[in-house]
Amino acid sequence: MDSKKKRISIPQKNKVRAELQKEIGSVCPFCTNSDVGHFQIHHIDEDPSNNDSINLLLICPNCHSRITKKDISKQEVIDKKTNLRNINSQIQFISVSIDEENCGWREIKDAKNAFMAEKLQSLFPVFIFSFINNSSKTLLLTNIRVKARNLPIGLSGPHTPLPSILRSSIKYKIKLPSNGELQEIKLKDELEVPPKRAFKFKIELFAESMEIFNPQFGRFAIFFEFGFNNNFYLEIPMILLNSPKYYEKLKYIGLA
Ligand SMILES: [Zn+2]
Repeated sequence: MDSKKKRISIPQKNKVRAELQKEIGSVCPFCTNSDVGHFQIHHIDEDPSNNDSINLLLICPNCHSRITKKDISKQEVIDKKTNLRNINSQIQFISVSIDEENCGWREIKDAKNAFMAEKLQSLFPVFIFSFINNSSKTLLLTNIRVKARNLPIGLSGPHTPLPSILRSSIKYKIKLPSNGELQEIKLKDELEVPPKRAFKFKIELFAESMEIFNPQFGRFAIFFEFGFNNNFYLEIPMILLNSPKYYEKLKYIGLA
């Protein structure tokens, strides 16, 4: 860092922070952390007097120190910011909810984008995604990428009885990928989105067996990316299934 540059506090800091939070969709752009209350504002050019919003990126403290240590390069940071600005000027993620009427899932209260299976006969979750096309052109939803992480079970977590009801009817059916695998689906029936319009679609996530989603055995973190015009991808915040929190599996380190 140039030692001559003086740190100048950011004018209208709360407003700037709120905008930066919106830009990243309330998730650290380098990891899965969504504890935004503790996020820090990084000066991309490492000049703490340059408070132009183009030079600022909201990130988690862990990734902030990875940048300081050069584990994340300055170029990676610049690319991330450019990408966020490009995408946000075209398409904006609004929300993901669960289609409670058409599947046996409900929202977990006080947890973000977290859902819980309740009814054994209809355990394939059906998500409802909402976006806005901010551009002046029609966009096509052309691809969907999905990745799942199996979360450890056996930790204390919600436990629900599973009564019955069967449901149907969704737009896209996507198979739950195996742990850590990135699955990309090229949509045959592309979704056309007129400019300046909000839009919604549903995705049913299915698996070989519904038992996979039984809260006693299956907890997942699901990562969706939506591709538009076969050109750019929008990552949305992590979705949690049968868990109010993201848990990393414990790693064992052998003693030599
Ligand atoms: Zn991070």
